[in-house]
Amino acid sequence: MMQPKPVPTPDPLDLEAFRRNAHALVDWVTDYLAGLGARPVREPVEPGEVRAKLPEDAPELPEPFDAVLADLDRVVVPGLTHWQHPGWFAFFPAQTSPPAVLGELAAAGIGVQGMLWATSPASTELESHVLDWLVDLLDVPQSWKTTGPGGGVLQAGASTATHTAMVVARELCRERTGAPAEKMVAYTSNQAHSSLEKGAKLTGFGHIRLLDVDADFAVRPAALTEAIEADRRDGLVPAFLGSNVGTTGTAAVDPLRELGEIARAEQMWHHVDAAYGGSAMICEEFRHHHDGLELVDSYTFNPHKWLATNLECSVMWVADRRPLIDTLSVVPPYLRNPASESGQVIDYRDWHAPLGRPFRALKLWFVLRSFGAEGLRRMIRSHVGWARGLADRIDGNPRLERIAPVHFALVSFVHRDGNEATDALAADINADGRFYVTPSEIDGRRFVRISVGSTWTTKDDVDALWDLIEASA
Ligand SMILES: *Cc1c(COP(=O)(O)O)cnc(C)c1O
Repeated sequence: MMQPKPVPTPDPLDLEAFRRNAHALVDWVTDYLAGLGARPVREPVEPGEVRAKLPEDAPELPEPFDAVLADLDRVVVPGLTHWQHPGWFAFFPAQTSPPAVLGELAAAGIGVQGMLWATSPASTELESHVLDWLVDLLDVPQSWKTTGPGGGVLQAGASTATHTAMVVARELCRERTGAPAEKMVAYTSNQAHSSLEKGAKLTGFGHIRLLDVDADFAVRPAALTEAIEADRRDGLVPAFLGSNVGTTGTAAVDPLRELGEIARAEQMWHHVDAAYGGSAMICEEFRHHHDGLELVDSYTFNPHKWLATNLECSVMWVADRRPLIDTLSVVPPYLRNPASESGQVIDYRDWHAPLGRPFRALKLWFVLRSFGAEGLRRMIRSHVGWARGLADRIDGNPRLERIAPVHFALVSFVHRDGNEATDALAADINADGRFYVTPSEIDGRRFVRISVGSTWTTKDDVDALWDLIEASA
């Protein structure tokens, strides 16, 4: 009797197959990126449409990689909003770049878990070193280097960095005043990112005050002073101040020095959310927005927004790492080791809530080396230049009105005919398919946000966007 032929099953651990498949995947990604300009920024897709293309049950038997790859085209791409599209002007960018993608691939392949120095020394030391490089490149205080009292750590996002800072602020405030968290107050701009409010909830702060802003949407220092006075009268305790360098709505910048002086006098933790604006500081002409950084306790910015590095890559610096580590260090017996006990190494598990951590520094290192600081400056300056050009055209158009200064590469404007006309303009731009912009609202006023910053955007894209705006307005 003939034996039935064994079904040839692809072996997912066959390294030669991995080599072939990886090359095929890199070809796929290259073609995807190269072809983006010919697609709509947002694929038209109904809720449930993607899932309807997937089988009911998980695969019981191994499938060939070709089938998996083919389903990127059949299932995934038609259900995407293409954040890497050259016509991406929505939200803020979530940049990637070829070197960052390769760094991510290398990190995935190496697959270390760098919770302790001892669990993979290169992961920790490369991260500390690259973030010390960034201290120089962005010209933030030298004391923030890991070779000084402070230090940098890569977090999954600016939200996480902010939440971490809030927890440290709470612990310090508790030690200093004995107050329970319910009596503590966090202060920030009424323009601050939602992660500030979320963080206050997670931290257990009893109160968060969203402070009034001036005509340019920057916090008025007097609003902070007044809020503190009122809270003190009510027996509450100021614990945390969150300042902004580039708010999400209009990229407003708060007066760091004046706010920092108030925070210092009140012994509050002063955290800066520069998730978007921070990347621009690689160019010296933006650094006037950083005046007062020596009055800052922690700072976060996202290379995964505007420094060519994919998610998740958010820098968090602290001016003094001791309170951070004191707050978060919990040492079970299985994590004890001679290197940690020597006090000569950094154990990044003590710098954030998660224990396990991927080798995030690798992609940032690839980016810094592949672009060079000059390459990154050139990119930022191009985006800012094109955004300013767009702002000038808006200023020259009698039907349009800008509502905020262009500190970086975000342009915010309205249609002079009012909210309906503004929304209609945004809808017209987005219906075209080549571009994607975000409509938003401030003080009851609808506005259009145009954020220039996709890695692949060119001046021609910005010009074409303007032609459409002018024709639609
Ligand atoms: C995008 C953004 C955040 C959130 O960043 P994540 O990395 O997504 O957590 C926080 N603050 C500001 C000002 C932002 O623009």
